Amino acid sequence: MTDYKKILDKARLTQKKFSPFITLPEKLQSNSKKGKLSGIAISVKDNICTKGMETTAGSKILSGYIPPFSATCVEKVIVAGGFILGKTAMDEFGFGTFSVNCAYGIPKNPLDTSRSCGGSSGGASCITAVADFPHVALAESTGGSISCPASFTGTVGLTPTYGRVSRWGLIDYANSLDKIGCIGKTVHDVALLLSIISGHDSFDSTSLNLPSEDFTKYGKSIKGMKIGVPKEYFEGVDEKITKVVWQAIKKLESLGASYQEVSLPHTKYALPSYYIIAVSEASTNLARYSGMRYGLHQELKGNFDEYFSSVRSNGFGEEAKRRIILGTFARMAGYRDAYYLKALKVRTKVIEDFKMAFKNFDVLAAPTMPVVAPRFDEIKRLSPIETYMMDVLTVAPNLAGIPMISVPAGKVNGLPVGLHLMGDHLQEKKILQVADVSS
Ligand code: GLN
Repeated sequence: MTDYKKILDKARLTQKKFSPFITLPEKLQSNSKKGKLSGIAISVKDNICTKGMETTAGSKILSGYIPPFSATCVEKVIVAGGFILGKTAMDEFGFGTFSVNCAYGIPKNPLDTSRSCGGSSGGASCITAVADFPHVALAESTGGSISCPASFTGTVGLTPTYGRVSRWGLIDYANSLDKIGCIGKTVHDVALLLSIISGHDSFDSTSLNLPSEDFTKYGKSIKGMKIGVPKEYFEGVDEKITKVVWQAIKKLESLGASYQEVSLPHTKYALPSYYIIAVSEASTNLARYSGMRYGLHQELKGNFDEYFSSVRSNGFGEEAKRRIILGTFARMAGYRDAYYLKALKVRTKVIEDFKMAFKNFDVLAAPTMPVVAPRFDEIKRLSPIETYMMDVLTVAPNLAGIPMISVPAGKVNGLPVGLHLMGDHLQEKKILQVADVSS
């Protein structure tokens, strides 16, 4: 029997210490359905809609928004017997790498509370690292928001192939990049949750027309597997991190895999291209938040333009405003060809790099992040561009829509380091298989 009260008490205690949640219910909704997730608590990133439970995407502009429906992935979790633990903290709309752009409190890294637990799915990684009851987190990545927090907290973060999981009920950041995925304590946990939430959904036209699979049935031996090590992914990476990641690759070799260096030549263009595409899409997505239909409402004063401007000035945080301005600029007539359309061309080149590499390799292995979890005072000193640069290793696979998983590979100065395993489209089982033996 699941002791809902005990679990909620533990979650409340964790909230006091590390603030991983935006919303924790008064009482947990017990779930009598029998299924693969029976008795398992599922925390839900706050940009995924939950019927009857406030959903803010970490933004003040959506405060008080109670969705009349649940996202498809949430529905599936409930049908499989899981129960919803709470809504986890995140950077506003997913705009960030450290979960410091949050309207409702900043989650802290349970391993060292002076440090970030990564972003934007920071609350998800935080509760995953702490939970001592059966739990897996529903998270989301646009450019690295599952891998980064997993790496900083020593948890496992799985980002599936774009379209593998329905986005119905996800509050969009950048539609061509957004992917719902999972953060868990073990490779098996994330494989199990993916088995439940994947599959075609007629409500999401970008969802792949494929049946769901049992992703826990990945192979056990990696004998004969070919691992590519992209050399560009070690440039500018902390030396101690490089060492830990190479040890992990050598371990895979000792288990029967072979490795070889490979070049992904367009890697250095991935970051600017990602940010142009992401902010362009974000700026159109955010246009709907005007104080008419969702969230924040104010007294109607002045004309509509004045009303919209005032609601948006009060409701959006600094980083959201920065991205609206950047994205609107990049899409403007006269600049479109120079920025947005060029970025789309670069995206194709990045995809081609990966496609070439996967002709010769089963998986690619690299560090997940160039640094270990930074301290909050270090983050404060970073300029916006320096913050964006932290995503240098995660944006390319996200642009390509390929599946990736971050697994703990070891520690540097007592802080976890993530090994990033990337696979070709729809090859989730391969990366799960390698991740499983490496952890
Ligand atoms: N840090 C990246 C950004 O700010 C990725 C965030 C995400 O995946 N949601 O866009």
